[in-house]
Amino acid sequence: MADFFDKLKKGLDEGITKMKVKSKELVDTTKIKGEISNLNQRKSSLLLTVGTEFYNMHKAGTFDIDKFKDKFNEIENIDKQIELKEKELEEVRKAAEEVIGKTPPKTKKCSCGAELPLDAKFCTSCGSKLD
Ligand SMILES: [Zn+2]
Repeated sequence: MADFFDKLKKGLDEGITKMKVKSKELVDTTKIKGEISNLNQRKSSLLLTVGTEFYNMHKAGTFDIDKFKDKFNEIENIDKQIELKEKELEEVRKAAEEVIGKTPPKTKKCSCGAELPLDAKFCTSCGSKLD
């Protein structure tokens, strides 16, 4: 993907339009978002299984946490994959913006008005979860 944008940067003079960059960005981000959504679904279903099994243990009065080891590992794995995909998404956006010539904002604003770094997950002022 990075190659594509590198080529575009060099090719801008040769008449490649902003539209092309935008539509490529859209195709790529849509694909990555779909992958993230699949990963989240798998994670949810694993969590549901773990929750059900845990409840059954509660009913039976015996807890065997080791039984969840594999599932927890799998969930951790999914989390890592999601993190990578989100980074990829950010890179696609940045690359496209760079080509088009817009400077991406260095901060984002929380609904409370606080300005935070782009990678902030939570607002340091009010504690809200950020997009
Ligand atoms: Zn806030």
